[in-house]
Amino acid sequence: MTVIGVLALQGAFIEHIKKLNQIGVDAREIRLPEQIAELDGLIIPGGESTTIGKLIDRFELRAPIVELAHSGRPLWGTCAGMILLAHAVDEDTRARSQPLLDLMDLTVRRNAFGSQLDSFETDLDFPAVAETPIHAVFIRAPIISAVGPDVEVLSRLENGQIVAARQRNLIVTSFHPELTSDDRLHRWFARTAKAATADLLPTTGGAKIAG
Ligand code: GLN
Repeated sequence: MTVIGVLALQGAFIEHIKKLNQIGVDAREIRLPEQIAELDGLIIPGGESTTIGKLIDRFELRAPIVELAHSGRPLWGTCAGMILLAHAVDEDTRARSQPLLDLMDLTVRRNAFGSQLDSFETDLDFPAVAETPIHAVFIRAPIISAVGPDVEVLSRLENGQIVAARQRNLIVTSFHPELTSDDRLHRWFARTAKAATADLLPTTGGAKIAG
């Protein structure tokens, strides 16, 4: 069975776990460095990016997360998780102490919709994953304000603002896919995790372990 971890330090991790369980994935709450090596993929959930970032360092999770990312296994940051995967945060939206994992060539803008439009829902085209639009919930959401040449844009708002992107095995979405009944993004992530681990397994005479 595919094993996906959800970083469970702060924020919306329970909802991701529920969603993964619903689609038949072995989902684990991750709080300890040694739990990460056995995962096929990892989700960093929404919450408060500064808090999650500080706790990542306090619990010595930075090195194993970076190692998972470099191993080719998929890592998905949603909302605050997206901020943490970024290389930089727009200066005027950056917290004084804003720990980043700096894994993707992205600049993000925190709380990009301001207090007037703190939270909202909309339908998004997400052609890499779904033929029909995905309903997306944005909660004090960041947007991607700049992407490097290796980053593929996966989805934009109607005004052109980038809200989802991928760089190799690293995926970010500014909204909360765990809060709707749509499970297509989680299914896609689980498939990606399964495929990545299959590629990493040493193939001995073609015998592959199923599941
Ligand atoms: N505004 C939060 C931050 O900057 C992110 C909000 C969320 O994850 N829903 O960390």
